[in-house]
Amino acid sequence: MQRNITKSHILIVVIFFSLLVLIYAYFRESFSPMNFCKPCVFPEKDIFELENKLDEINNKDMSGQCLIGGKRMDRMAMDLGLKYAQPSTLNGRKDINAVTNWNAPLVWEGTFDPVVMDAIYKKMNPRIAVVVFAVGKYTRFLQKFIETGEKYFLVGFNVTYYVHTDRENEVPKVPLGEGRKVTVVSVPSANRWQDVVLGRMKWATITIEKTIRNEADYLFMMDIDSVFYARFGTESLSRLSAVLHRGYYRKTPRDSFPYERRPQSKAYIPAGEGDYYYTAAVWCGYLEDMYKLVKYCYEMSEEDAKNKIEAVWQEESHLNRYLLTNKPTKVLSPEYLWSDYDALTPDIKVKRISQLVKNYAEVRPNGGN
Ligand code: UDP
Repeated sequence: MQRNITKSHILIVVIFFSLLVLIYAYFRESFSPMNFCKPCVFPEKDIFELENKLDEINNKDMSGQCLIGGKRMDRMAMDLGLKYAQPSTLNGRKDINAVTNWNAPLVWEGTFDPVVMDAIYKKMNPRIAVVVFAVGKYTRFLQKFIETGEKYFLVGFNVTYYVHTDRENEVPKVPLGEGRKVTVVSVPSANRWQDVVLGRMKWATITIEKTIRNEADYLFMMDIDSVFYARFGTESLSRLSAVLHRGYYRKTPRDSFPYERRPQSKAYIPAGEGDYYYTAAVWCGYLEDMYKLVKYCYEMSEEDAKNKIEAVWQEESHLNRYLLTNKPTKVLSPEYLWSDYDALTPDIKVKRISQLVKNYAEVRPNGGN
């Protein structure tokens, strides 16, 4: 009898302590043998710890030239929990080509999910510089450009418009979203529109060196006589993005492109060569890559001037020459610069930004086309 009681006592004590250990282990998440009986969901704390760890690892990776302001700008990272449509491997638009022959994305409406794109770029939260020129009578285009930019251009991101002008008192005060501002940069007037257009490369090079380099991760070069009509978002960002010129994106053969054809110019492209014809009215990329390219266009036009030649389409010719042998990492469809001179073609599902119809003779200092 005495022995039986002792055994029961021992058994009760063992069960009691086992229970205590189990309860303690249950509340200690780190006790791995217990994990099998917990639901397969990470507690929030773990998700954040994991993502912070991943951020730390990724931002430490110094390979490539993508580390900007201590952050990598090429990282396609996203947080768990975002709701978006499942992407398809087979279904997509059949009326356009969404990839170049060097395997870069060719961006059209329907080839990206804005929710996913914005979530990815929000994690990097880049600072974006927009360099525009409004010299002489072109100040009249500032109001609409900035007003519509605030509605459609990289909404929710940090954007600074660097307005280069010879008429500072004509820069309008437009209400701006949070994290967005206008910086006015004074430039001299010019007698020829060609000098303004080419001069942009010189003055942009100087502003980047002086100011923008310390204030931005991405840079856009844009014409001011344009208006935004629909989302122009993070899907446009890459190391170097160029826009297909609306007038030539359906044209073959490539010899019909208006490249510079005179071998005396630094912008020369021989017959039988070329991929696409890109517009110089919108181009963008990482600050340092864009700096290199803007400076290249400036220096090449200076070389041409020394040799008494001006490329047929000024900096656009030099841009096209550069992009032939230094391929862009993203090509944007003409949705990213249409023109109010032309009716929309069926493949343009969204007109995101468009050049305004203007009276060239009236608005340019030396008139004409
Ligand atoms: N521009 C300017 N003042 C001028 C001529 C040109 O500010 O007198 C700038 C302006 O930013 C304009 C860009 O240069 O958007 C390109 O010039 P323009 O629009 O005349 O060229 P287009 O695209 O019509 O050939």
